[in-house]
Order: sequence, then structure tokens, then C-alpha cells
Amino acid sequence: MSDELEELYQQVILDHSKRPRNRGEIPGGVHVQGDNPSCGDEIMLSVKFGPAGEVEDIKFTGSGCAISQASASLMTMKLKGKSREEALRLAGAFHTLITSDTPVDTTGLGDVVLLKGVRKFPQRVKCASLAWRAFEQATGDGTKATTE
Ligand code: ZN
Repeated sequence: MSDELEELYQQVILDHSKRPRNRGEIPGGVHVQGDNPSCGDEIMLSVKFGPAGEVEDIKFTGSGCAISQASASLMTMKLKGKSREEALRLAGAFHTLITSDTPVDTTGLGDVVLLKGVRKFPQRVKCASLAWRAFEQATGDGTKATTE
């Protein structure tokens, strides 16, 4: 990454890890506990799906490293209000973005693309993908997600 991008990446991660957006729990929502034991990251994701399966509301609580918490915060901002298909497409695009060089359509991911810097660090990939894995679980039966 260029120095400028590197700086932006640091800023976004710092900002979201210090002031996470959409923090909390949704009563009556689908809850998924995600953890990444290799780093000690934990995420409790709450998702409320609308009648057509759209992401009506999404919140998280948890603790862990800056990347895991920033990624969760960014994710909730991007997925809120999206249709189920679009949300899953974004989750898939994010996973491709941080794990491979395969070109991928990142439309809708916004600032999230800055997290692609973790690609060089396999341990950090688990941190960054934790919340997204939890979301994918939530669209299924809402059980347990792990990036181990
Ligand atoms: Zn971590």
C-alpha cells in the first residue's frame, strides 16, 4: 500500500475500534457468538431480518483486537438495510478481497476495502473475517461461528 493508503487504513481501524458503530444487542434478533481463539477476539452479533429476509437491523458487542472490532463496526454499517442476497454478496466479496488476489466487485463495501491490507497477515485475516463469518451464520440457523 502507498503511505497515504496505509495512513487511511490506520485511521479507519483506530476510529472504528475506539468508537464502534451499531454496538448493542437486538432483543428478539438472531444471535451468533463468534470467536477467534488464536487472537482472543469475541463477537456477539445480533441481526433482525425483515419479512423478505432483508437486514432490518444489525448490532454487535464483543471484545478483542482493533481489527476484529473495527471490521465488525464497518460491517454493520454496510449490511444494515441490505437485502439478504446483497448482504451475502458483500460478505463473499469481502472474504475474497482479504484472502486472494482474485479481482472482485467491491461495489457497496466502501471503506471496508481498506481492510484488504490484512491479506499479508494470515493471523489478522481471521480477526477481520470473524464478524462476517458470524453474519453468514446468522443467515443460516444462527449457531456458532469461529475463524479457527
Ligand atoms: Zn484479533
